[in-house]
Amino acid sequence: MPDQITDPSDLRGDCAQCFGLCCVALPFARSADFALNKPAGKPCPNLQGDHRCGIHADLRQKGFSGCTVYDCFGAGQKVSRITFGGQDWRTGSKEDARRMFDVFPVVRQLHELLWYLTEALGLPAARPVHPELRKALERTERLTRGTPGELAALDVAAHRQEVNVLLLRTSELARAGAGGKGKGKGKDRRGADLIGARLKGADLRGASLRGACLIAADLTGADLRGADLIGADLRDTDLTDADLTGAFFLTQPQVNAARGSAGTRLPESVGRPVHWTAGG
Ligand code: SF4
Repeated sequence: MPDQITDPSDLRGDCAQCFGLCCVALPFARSADFALNKPAGKPCPNLQGDHRCGIHADLRQKGFSGCTVYDCFGAGQKVSRITFGGQDWRTGSKEDARRMFDVFPVVRQLHELLWYLTEALGLPAARPVHPELRKALERTERLTRGTPGELAALDVAAHRQEVNVLLLRTSELARAGAGGKGKGKGKDRRGADLIGARLKGADLRGASLRGACLIAADLTGADLRGADLIGADLRDTDLTDADLTGAFFLTQPQVNAARGSAGTRLPESVGRPVHWTAGG
């Protein structure tokens, strides 16, 4: 792993470099996404001694679809290899293990911010705020390299707030450049309740869908080019044949949680989930 994050590939989970932190540190509530209840800090019963998942190939069939959606943005390997210097929670002290589990969600939030900031710096329309974005990226990177004590004491919500101001400005600049004259173009749908909404074929070019709740919405064939999707809840959203080219602040967990097809056009920053084309 390089000293400085410069490559978006460092902002994706690398389970081979992690001590299975997401399978231990996070709490699960029994639901359609997880087949059991598990408190934070307790290993999932499916986690093997080598930190691999014992049911990896059958997660969806066995009721653990939430695990196929999750991504730590590279926080797992950072905490395992850098913050705790390769000390496995299984062999270290209980106190170290507890601190590791406390710090992991903090670093995950910081890495998510790194993802957005890296993407923002790749948007030509956001050039006027690139200097501030670069500073925010450097500061966030520095924070991820804090000691366990520093990370545990960090007011991550306040840092998110600061970065969010910049991301909002970035969004305005980027969406102003999104083409199209349709009804939905540029529309501000921030935080909108669009659960189950019928938006088939909708023109949402350059729309702000920040934090919008689109659970089970029908966006088949919709045009979402240049839309801001930060924090949008896309669980079970149907993106079949939708066009998300140039959509930004879209993360892999969001895409993984949605439905789609081979005809869905995605931004280059995210991959096509296997279950979209594997009948899952
Ligand atoms: S089911 Fe597998 S991937 Fe999900 S938490 Fe348990 S061990 Fe981890």
